[in-house]
Amino acid sequence: MASLPESPRKPSGKDKAKALRTRIDDDVESLAKAVDAVRASDTFKAFLDVQARFHRYSWHNVMLILSQRPSASRVAGFKAWNGFGRHVCKGEHGIMIFAPRPFKKERESTNGDTETVDGLTFRPVYVFDVSQTDGEPLPKVDVPTVAAAADTLLARLTDVATTRGIAVTFGKIADRPDAFGASNNGAIEVNDAHPTGQQAKTLAHELAHEALHWNEKERGTFTHSLAELEAESVAYVVCRRFGLDVEVRASRYIALWGGDAKSLRESLDRIATTARGIIDDAESVETRKAVA
Ligand SMILES: [Zn+2]
Repeated sequence: MASLPESPRKPSGKDKAKALRTRIDDDVESLAKAVDAVRASDTFKAFLDVQARFHRYSWHNVMLILSQRPSASRVAGFKAWNGFGRHVCKGEHGIMIFAPRPFKKERESTNGDTETVDGLTFRPVYVFDVSQTDGEPLPKVDVPTVAAAADTLLARLTDVATTRGIAVTFGKIADRPDAFGASNNGAIEVNDAHPTGQQAKTLAHELAHEALHWNEKERGTFTHSLAELEAESVAYVVCRRFGLDVEVRASRYIALWGGDAKSLRESLDRIATTARGIIDDAESVETRKAVA
């Protein structure tokens, strides 16, 4: 009598979880390599070079700039623009900010001597936004929009948000028409002017912000750059799991936020845990639908 082939052991939940974690670790590792490849590219180096030559304005001046020109993105003084191979267009009005001007003055000290003290005064100076200038284009790193369609993944992630009590609205983002999405602690906005693959990527990114970055106790323990790196990595892993390739966009986005392979590896546990949660939820949404 021929013996029956041994029935393969049914994978337990634990095995499945372990296998998924290994896959996620591999995914994050390949993203880390892609990010470092972006950082090593000539375009990126040229971009950083120019970036470093722009002055970093104080918070007060940033507010002044935005109050006068809300769409301002890159600002510099009249002469500084010439240094970038550009010139301020005729008829453009400058944006007023305050430049600190230190001075020294002499005064009589308490014991009757003369002493020199340092003072600081501010004088108005004018800067111009890149949109008010013309000339050589500034080096820039393109972060391409995901062009593929991914209607099913988008629907699934929308269900995940709903089951987590997060409201999702589709449309232009209030106050930031160019933004792809926003996470508002319990509510997510997704700009629907893009292909559904891009929208799914955005929604996964915002779901990661919701899960990771609104905890009161953790506030102040991470920078905005790190939050963007984590959210984009989670989105990358989730999209990849469902067959959507977002590597070019994700790796450039993370590089532009100052991330590198090392910082990605340091956040691996947070990325993996969050991605797994979203993947599990997205798969159980599908199972529930199949059963219904
Ligand atoms: Zn973000």
